[in-house]
Amino acid sequence: MSATIIDGKVNAAALRVRVADEVKRLSSQHGLTPGLAVVLAGNNPASESYVGSKAKVTVETGMRSFDHRLPDSVSQADLLALVAKLNADPAVHGILVQLPLPPQIDANRVLDAIDPRKDVDGFHPVNVGRLASGLPALVPCTPLGCVMLAKTAHASLAGLEAVVIGRSNIVGKPVSQLLLAENATVTIAHSRTRDLPAVCRRADLLVAAIGKPEFVRGDWIKPGATVIDVGINRVPGVNGKSKLVGDVNFAEAVEVAGAITPVPGGVGPMTIACLMVNTVRAACAIAGLPPPAV
Ligand code: NAD
Repeated sequence: MSATIIDGKVNAAALRVRVADEVKRLSSQHGLTPGLAVVLAGNNPASESYVGSKAKVTVETGMRSFDHRLPDSVSQADLLALVAKLNADPAVHGILVQLPLPPQIDANRVLDAIDPRKDVDGFHPVNVGRLASGLPALVPCTPLGCVMLAKTAHASLAGLEAVVIGRSNIVGKPVSQLLLAENATVTIAHSRTRDLPAVCRRADLLVAAIGKPEFVRGDWIKPGATVIDVGINRVPGVNGKSKLVGDVNFAEAVEVAGAITPVPGGVGPMTIACLMVNTVRAACAIAGLPPPAV
């Protein structure tokens, strides 16, 4: 039997439409146009491509996009001064400083300087703490996308045995907190976990955020389980070209799982759509409006 494929592109497109509808409503009812500022220091090609896509989708969903490009040689003081300016700008509701930053910059100091109400990446310690405390928070985009995709396969995540492989601050820990908030029974597995295959076999919902190509094998998966593959790994393909694969061996897993996200086309497309969701949520919270319907 073959698993249902959870299509990230289709879900992300539907989410962007819902964001655009909310943006229209905020504009007509409250005269509010959410704005997202993206800061890029240096010219890392992957970062330039992400930042370009983010700006494009921001405009497509009806929001204002503020693009700030800084040289690779930018000083910590200049970067902090820009963040302070964006914190004070009433047209800016979301601030995203693209990582990685050049080596002379202390990334944590920069992220800590962002106003937590505008922290659409959800990396500020205030938002991390609020999420852990079960308080309303801006939460990291990729984990938010993972939970939205998991919910397409389950009416409720309450009571499910969820296993998250990976404990990074960017994916593993926040996705675990979000699943806990959904009342799943969450196990966080990591590089020191003993007998990882046996731990995974308990999971009704398995989230893989490891960064190792096709690491999770088909016989680690409980028959019928939902598998969310966060991994993005570039490996050699045919004819000397490279290809992208996830952290899960898809060909094996698709025969055992009940539902599974592909790579590419699964979690990846949800990340930018969730950034748009966070920007609308931030704009509403800053304006003192009720949370939006996305
Ligand atoms: P990371 O390197 O910060 O963390 C990897 C985690 O995997 C660690 O917590 C580690 O304990 C765990 N791990 C490593 N080896 C292990 C092993 N042998 N057994 C069990 N656990 C092991 O990576 P990250 O930033 O969390 O990213 C994880 C993956 O997700 C990467 O492939 C990354 O490219 C991808 N990613 C995708 C998106 C997206 O938009 N789809 C966003 C962020 C990250």
